[in-house]
Formats: sequence, structure tokens, C-alpha cells
Amino acid sequence: MQLQVLKRRWLSLLHHITGEHEWTVDGETYSCSHGTLTGDQCLRTRWLQCGSPSFKALKSLIENKSLIRDLEQMTLFKHTGSLEVYHNVILKFAPKRLHFTYDTMLARTKLAVLDHNENVGRFQAVTRAGAPRYKKCYSRSAKEWILKNMYEKKTNHYARELLRRTKKTNHYARELLRRTTENCTGINFPSNISRSVHPVSIAPEPAPSKEELLSKRRSRT
Ligand SMILES: [Zn+2]
Repeated sequence: MQLQVLKRRWLSLLHHITGEHEWTVDGETYSCSHGTLTGDQCLRTRWLQCGSPSFKALKSLIENKSLIRDLEQMTLFKHTGSLEVYHNVILKFAPKRLHFTYDTMLARTKLAVLDHNENVGRFQAVTRAGAPRYKKCYSRSAKEWILKNMYEKKTNHYARELLRRTKKTNHYARELLRRTTENCTGINFPSNISRSVHPVSIAPEPAPSKEELLSKRRSRT
């Protein structure tokens, strides 16, 4: 979205909240993007009085200069999903509940970065027939079963390369491989080492079929 359009929409809040849905700026007429409100809706809504203390307080927030400047950063689409994935990788290498010395923390963070960089941007996994793969998950926030995309298996070539260079197969090396092998292809470890325990589902109802969830997902888009 263009910055000017975004700013105009943001500032249009000051008109809408006072019950003014069409206004003029520098000879140009603008209006809210919602549909026409019924007379009943206009009467029942408790609009703010222009010039009231509440209006003035909200106006100072909406017109805050640093906030308006931040809008410039929002004109490009940004998704926080990949950042969350990266944080999860860091937690895998450096769990919060454990204390590490500075050197250890540095090394673990570097490993997390290597792991993340090797696996970032994986494509969605497909079935043998070429159809995209999904998994069923229970969403706590939406309180319903949803489908999540499944991605290609992770790899850990960087870990193998590190081991090759250091020529060590000691406890730390095994630990490194264990952490990077979870959900990875390439190295087989005994199941008691590489498998994590799945928690009991918190869903109050059993999951519907994937087909049912997929048709629901398509109907929303
Ligand atoms: Zn409006």
C-alpha cells in the first residue's frame, strides 16, 4: 500500500469516530471504506464529540509523529512467521530454562544460525501424486482444528561438514547431531534418541478429516 494512502486511511479514523464518514481535504472528497450505515446504526453508535477530552486524547495518539513515521515501515508487506521459526530454532539449541556461559551461548547461537540458514525457504512437501501436504493442528486462539502446510524435511549438511572438519565424534558431536537430526533426513539414530515425545492433544473434540478442513480453508480464501 502506498504511504500516502496508508496515512490517509489511518488519519481517517479521526473522522469516523466522530460519526463523519465523508469529508474534504484540500478540495478532495474522501470517505470511510465501510458501506453505508443505516440510520439506526448511526443513532445507536456512541460517536466521540469533536473537541471532547476523549477525542483530544485519541487525536494526539493518532497524530503522533513517531507513530506516523513508523507507518513508512509498514508500507511493505512483512510477515513475522519466518522470524518465529528462527526463534524456535534458537530455543532448540539454547533452551531458555538452562543457563549457559557466554562462549557456549555464542556457539549454540551460531549453530542455530547455520541450521536456520540451511533450511530456510523450504518448499511445501507433496505427496507421491504431487498434491500439497498438510497436517491437522488444533488452534488455541481460533479454538478449532486447522490445517497447516507441511514442508520438505530439514537437512543438516552443515553439521556433517563441521564434524568432518573437526574430526571429532565425541559426546558434543553426538549432541549436535541429535539436535539437528530431529525431523531431518540423512542420519538414522535409535528412536529413543532422536524422537521427541508428543504432548497429549488439548483439543476438546476429535479432529475432522483433512478433506473437510481443506474445503473449509478454501471457502475462506
Ligand atoms: Zn466511517
